[in-house]
Formats: sequence, structure tokens, C-alpha cells
Amino acid sequence: MPVVEPNVMEALLAYLRNNYAQMCRHWFNEIEFVQISQGTLTLLVKEQVRLKYLQRSCLNQFTEAAQAATGKLLAVEFVGEDERPELAEEPHAGGVYTQPDLNEEMILSPDYTFDSFVVGPDNRLAHAASLAVAQKPGKAYNPFFVHGGVGLGKTHLLQAISQMAMRMHRGMRIFYTSCNGFMTHFMEAVQAGQMADFRHRFRNFDLLIVDDIHDLSKRGPSQEEFFHTFNSLYQAGRQIVLSSDAPPNEIPDLEERLTSRFNCGLVANIERPCYETRVAIVRSKAQMRNIELPDDCAAYIASRLDSNIREMEGAITKLQGLSLLEQAPINMELCKKAIGEQDTSTPGSPTTIQDILNTISNYYGLRITDLLSKRRHKSIALPRQIGMYLARKHTRFSLGEIGGYFGGRDHTTVMHAIRSIDSRRTGDRHLDDEVRRLEELVIQTGASL
Ligand code: ADP
Ligand code: MG
Repeated sequence: MPVVEPNVMEALLAYLRNNYAQMCRHWFNEIEFVQISQGTLTLLVKEQVRLKYLQRSCLNQFTEAAQAATGKLLAVEFVGEDERPELAEEPHAGGVYTQPDLNEEMILSPDYTFDSFVVGPDNRLAHAASLAVAQKPGKAYNPFFVHGGVGLGKTHLLQAISQMAMRMHRGMRIFYTSCNGFMTHFMEAVQAGQMADFRHRFRNFDLLIVDDIHDLSKRGPSQEEFFHTFNSLYQAGRQIVLSSDAPPNEIPDLEERLTSRFNCGLVANIERPCYETRVAIVRSKAQMRNIELPDDCAAYIASRLDSNIREMEGAITKLQGLSLLEQAPINMELCKKAIGEQDTSTPGSPTTIQDILNTISNYYGLRITDLLSKRRHKSIALPRQIGMYLARKHTRFSLGEIGGYFGGRDHTTVMHAIRSIDSRRTGDRHLDDEVRRLEELVIQTGASL
């Protein structure tokens, strides 16, 4: 006999809020208790993307919470509405059994929807076009190409398109992937001698969304394959959506024929968000996590962190953690504590590229002439790249201008440097710490002038 205990849900969610606050989302309240039967707590999640997200990322935490809430050794399962046992086994169409696998790999975040996307002057066109594309794939703008700096919302928009299109157009073949994901599929297909399969799959989507297409650069065979995929979809009137950190003609090592294809639909830029947009984004992020964030705190975070939205999100997470740890409400005092040390803007004393060059040269014991030289030895190239990265982050100079300062390099070199440091920081603690220390030094130098 199943035990029905509606209070279990309340206790379970309370446990999660106390122990895994950063994982909690406002929509967790909509998760429905189905039953506890044979040692398993079954939870119903109606929305597909949320369901997959829970299955993928939250199972352990929910299991722990279920056990804490009931005092029983329970397992947890999340089920969707159309996943009821009698519907589970759908017959496969003659041998195309790879299709479901592919969809399994489509990793979408329930955080990235149009509802949670804040529209401002800096992203209005990209947003409007995204909506149009999601509503009428293949009819509005094709291809749709969106570009902008790191952390400005490209992935968010692309995933929002995927999710809306999936909801609006049942049965439509929709696929979202990163460019690296595309290349991995391609390489695996080549190695397995299954190119026919690969082509059949990728050329049959009604809506293909490829994130971070700049990663195609320097990948000869993948570029070639992507070119053909693109053409065959395009000619069949299927929708293609791409994102990149640079406009088509500024992507290094991209063949001209691809550049011109990318340019033939709508190209929209996302700019750095202005202050008002940032405040609204901070609010939206807090709301998503069910955090009560006073207005002055939202304003403070938005004024302190102004370039990368991911940093604002990091600040909110940190604030939330601190508030739990200190059992204190979120207020300005806590806010300053949480982001004071990562305070990157010193109003009134803008950092100059010279400050950055001085700091880097002192820190690494290198001569400035070496930093500006053509030498490519690792001991110089890395500090130089960090310098460019800091220049982009802490000054208002364009990529081209930064390249000019750093020994007459062109904007693609600067872009490559920024990208490389940015991605290495995520995986390399040591480098991350080093960059952080340098940032502090740069800010101090700027402030003491
Ligand atoms: P990108 O792909 O351009 O590097 P992301 O889409 O990953 O950036 O965005 C980084 C973070 O900033 C994400 O958490 C995203 O939700 C958030 N973000 C960016 N722009 C907006 C916006 N306009 N409204 C709400 N959140 C945003
Ligand atoms: Mg992205």
C-alpha cells in the first residue's frame, strides 16, 4: 500500500532550502508528490526541461532530503506526465534508434527561458529576433546569428528559443548543441564509420541551434562538414540559430564561404548591459532563487559588477551562502562583505593599460618590452595574455586598441587571449588565483595614482 504523506514535500523542500540553497529554484514548489511505494518516493514534474534537469543534477540532494524528511531509507524518482509506464515504450521507427540518444544529450537549463530573460536596450533586437525565430522557425530570420561578449546572455537566449519552440511546436525536430558538441558527434561518426547516420540526423532537424560557433575556427574537417550541414538545412528552409563571441567576419580562421553564409540572415549584437538592465537582472536572479533582495542591495551589486553577468550571479550566490552561514538577513552590510573583495571598479580612477603593463611586468619580473615583443615563449606569452584579459575587463578599450597597446597585435589575437584565459580560469585553480591577485594589484595601482 502506498503511503500518502503530503507533508513530506514541505519537509523535503525545507531541507533542501537549508542545505542546498543554491540549487533551489522557485518552481520546486510545483513538483508534485505522487506516492511513496516500495521504498521509492515518486515525484511528478510536468515540464520536460525541468524534469531532465532534476534527473541529471539534483537526484542525490533530493534523495538525501527525502531520507531526512521521512527518516526512511528512500530512493527518489522523478517522472514526467507522458512517461507513465504504459506510454514508456514507443516503437522505434525502422532502426533509427540513435535519435532518442541524441535528444538525451540535449542539455538545457530550466533557468534559461524567455520568462527569466531581462530585456533592455542592450539586447532588445537579439531578444525580439529570438522570440520571432522560436515562434516561426524558418520563417522569420534565417540564419539568426547572435554575438556578444562572455556572459552577456547568448546561451540563455539560445536555450530559451529551444525551450519555447519545443513547447509551441510539438513534433518538430529541434536540436540545441554547443559547437564542440557538434564537432564531437562529427568526430565520433568519422571514427565509427557512420557518416551516413550523422548526416541523416543533422540534416533532418527543423531547427538546429549551435552555441559558440566561433569554436569552429581552425577545425578544417568540422568546418567543412558544418558548411554542408548548414547548406542542406538552409536550402530546405529549416531554421538555423548560431551564437558567437564575435560577428561573423571577426571570427578568426573562419572560411569566407561560412562567413558569408552566417551574414545572410539576421546578425544581432548583445551589448554589455546598462545599469538599469543589470539591476533588473539581479532582481530576476534573486527571484528565481527565492531570495529576498532589498532594492539597495540589488543596486549595489549592479553598480559594482558591470561587465559579466555571471559575476553578478556569483555575487548573489555568495550572498545567499553568507546569509545562511551567519543566520543573518540579506542587507547592505552583508552585501558589502560578500562582494567587497571582488570589487572591480574604482570609480574616479579608471585603470589604464599602462597600470596593467606595470603590474604584470613587476609581478612576473618581465620587461615591458618583452611583453610587447613578438616572443612567444610560454613564460612571456601567458603573462601577456593575462594582460590583455585584464585590459579588456578593467578598461574601456576595444579589442583593436588593446592589441595596439600590446605591441601592435590585431583584435583576433586579443580575442583569442581573452577566451583562452577565461576558459582556463574555470579549470585551473592556480591560474585563477593568480589572475585574481593581479586584478587586486591592478586596482590598487589605479587607485593610488
Ligand atoms: P554567454 O553565453 O553570452 O556567455 P550566458 O547566456 O551564459 O552568457 O549568460 C551568463 C549568465 O547571465 C546566465 O546566468 C544568464 O542567465 C545571465 N543573463 C545574461 N543576460 C541576461 C538577461 N538579459 N536577463 C537575465 N539573465 C541574463
Ligand atoms: Mg555561452
